Amino acid sequence: PVRVRFCPSPTGNPHVGLVRTALFNWAFARHHRGTLVFRIEDTDVARDSEESYQQLLDSMRWLGFDWDEGPEIGGPHAPYRQSERMDIYRDVVAKLLDRGYAYHCYCTADELDERREAARKAGRPSGYDGHCRDLTDEQIAAYEREGREHIVRFRMPDHPITFTDLVRGELTFTPENVPDYGIVRANGSPLYTLVNPVDDALMEITHVLRGEDLLSSTPRQIALYAALAEIGVGNGTTPHFAHLPYVMGEGNKKLSKRDPQSSLNLYRERGFLPEGLLNYLSLLGWSLSADQDIFSMDEMVAAFDLSDVNPNPARFDLKKCEHINAEHVRRLDVKAFIEACGPWLKAPHAPWRPEAFDQAAFEAIAPHAQTRVTVLSDITANVDFLFLDEPVEDEASWQKAMKEGADALLRTVREKLADVAEWAAEPLKAAVLAAGEEHGLKLGKAQAPVRVAVTGRTVGLPLFESLEVLGRERTLARIDAALA
Ligand code: GLU
Repeated sequence: PVRVRFCPSPTGNPHVGLVRTALFNWAFARHHRGTLVFRIEDTDVARDSEESYQQLLDSMRWLGFDWDEGPEIGGPHAPYRQSERMDIYRDVVAKLLDRGYAYHCYCTADELDERREAARKAGRPSGYDGHCRDLTDEQIAAYEREGREHIVRFRMPDHPITFTDLVRGELTFTPENVPDYGIVRANGSPLYTLVNPVDDALMEITHVLRGEDLLSSTPRQIALYAALAEIGVGNGTTPHFAHLPYVMGEGNKKLSKRDPQSSLNLYRERGFLPEGLLNYLSLLGWSLSADQDIFSMDEMVAAFDLSDVNPNPARFDLKKCEHINAEHVRRLDVKAFIEACGPWLKAPHAPWRPEAFDQAAFEAIAPHAQTRVTVLSDITANVDFLFLDEPVEDEASWQKAMKEGADALLRTVREKLADVAEWAAEPLKAAVLAAGEEHGLKLGKAQAPVRVAVTGRTVGLPLFESLEVLGRERTLARIDAALA
């Protein structure tokens, strides 16, 4: 059975790269009816925070992911927060040291720097040179007497490591390129390089899907797995690896966590639908088919296959992301759309007095707004004319629409509207059409000043439906105000 994991570190705000990784793991697990393990990699006290952990959980829930094992829900391999598993790591390290798979390294940072520099000048590989690999008991005793600190280093095998990446095919790493590496800090705390593969082994992870930036740690982890199998940690198998392509941002540079576009919160605050955002993020390295880029998560799960993941870097395109979201907004049934808009119609998003909001009016106009909204936060500007005491003042719109003759036209419009028997879109349209004719104006031209007088803007929802919902009294009052 497939067992995959999503194992973020709680540092900073969640970003889209992280969400993409979570999504591919989730889709893979669900496609194979496997198990998704949510694990928190919080062994770096200096960088991890409780706040960031809470945000991660909250974000994952907002996105609609579910997982089968993890913090708060538990599971057979609990606990799922690495900070609560320190005893396990201590025990594994003791065994690795005991069996010679790891050793104490006493090199100081200065010594390492110096030798690295010398190697670079001589054109030799500049990774760790194995200085402390085979210290004698006397050498160790001497370092200890000096009071030197040590880290724990994993001893890499002397042979190349080959594995088949499920996205990239067969890859080989030679020993020169993968030197011995630290697994425990001088202060005794274990590093990602240790705890990540140890937990993958203990939690019986079958597939590791993660970003390409972690590709260089894979040969190290494969070597560590072999050692873990020897010392009886985990079930002795090595997971399959699939490295997801880089995501490129502006200027074809890797999208960085500091890039404002990469912050998940931005998408939440703008009112992206989780399904719209996930649909877009799935396209960063995968596609459902050449001619369908809008799909549901159910469709993605049904079709998801690692052999369709493209190893080439994917470009993050905010415009496309917005376009896809707009399509998902359109696909909602009206009721769901109305409900999704809910939070945006209240403080702090809505600019109107809370008492001025009228749910029935909103529901009447909502079907017309739904096709014009890219992200849900767009809704307020579309419907604010209904709930503000006075329409917004948009200088550019006034300049554009209130040209010569606009006053005369508005007066005629006002007369005709006042005479409309049934206050409904069709007769309202007929009235404005007739007023325009008197001034030699087609409907389009005649509408513009009316729209600006009533909504404050030159563009907006269909005008006559808007007037119908706004009502006779307020429509006429706004035209009067524009004429005053
Ligand atoms: N905690 C690691 C990270 O957030 C996990 C990497 C992995 O998937 O192995 O980068």
